Amino acid sequence: MAITIKPNHDFPKLLIENLKNHYDEKKRLNHEVHVSDILLENCLRKQYYKRKFPDLNTVDNNSLIHFIRGESSEYVITKLANIGISQRDLEFDGLIAHPDIMNNEFIIELKDTMSQKRLDINNEKFISYIRQLLYYLIISGYEKGILSIIYNSEEIKFLKSDEKGDYFFRPKNTKKPEIVSWTIFLSKDDVLREILKNEMIRRKNLFLMALLNNNISSLPRFPEIQRESKCSKCFFYDRCMNVDGEDIIAQDISKELDILSITGIFDFKNR
Ligand code: SF4
Repeated sequence: MAITIKPNHDFPKLLIENLKNHYDEKKRLNHEVHVSDILLENCLRKQYYKRKFPDLNTVDNNSLIHFIRGESSEYVITKLANIGISQRDLEFDGLIAHPDIMNNEFIIELKDTMSQKRLDINNEKFISYIRQLLYYLIISGYEKGILSIIYNSEEIKFLKSDEKGDYFFRPKNTKKPEIVSWTIFLSKDDVLREILKNEMIRRKNLFLMALLNNNISSLPRFPEIQRESKCSKCFFYDRCMNVDGEDIIAQDISKELDILSITGIFDFKNR
């Protein structure tokens, strides 16, 4: 008499295959432009390549886990919150937005992260979340949004690095997995609204024209100073840097100052 237990590799493979089919169905091969395509932190060129070479977008265990975590936490939180409509379709000058939750007063954007440090105004990912929410506020005409970040990991601190890898430690009283939320307010008459609207529409137009003309050269690369962190692991690096060009206007755009990086632009209160 024995109970047999052995590894099963078929089930994860089935999930990966079905997720790939799910993405295939949603592949943005048309010319719809979504807010997530044009965020400053999401490279326009990378989004272009993903559209033009969709078969190079691989689905692996990592993307599977990411998908499951993101979708399930969004589903559960939306149900638990029970304060608005989920994924409402918004459209502004041809730009499409799907805020996670929306009611008559505010918009909520949900983020799910494995980040082991808590994000704030000094972190680029945090700024990207804020920018996305600000774009939603501009598209909807709303003044108030809530950014809600689900941290799945305890906070740990970096210690050192050597040839074997990176070393971290977990401080006493470390932060446990939690949900941290922020209220973002942008007044209807704030001049920043117009500046961000122009930024949003210009990036949408640049992206759309590049897609329509099959010409990536009008899309800016990341500025040189950011390339080591942003581009070194990019799947399209060789094509982007060594095959496809970048015209003068795109080069100038990549040197522009990000309005959200200006000191004092945020009245940031962390309590
Ligand atoms: S290499 Fe850098 S600039 Fe080029 S597509 Fe990738 S992330 Fe964008």
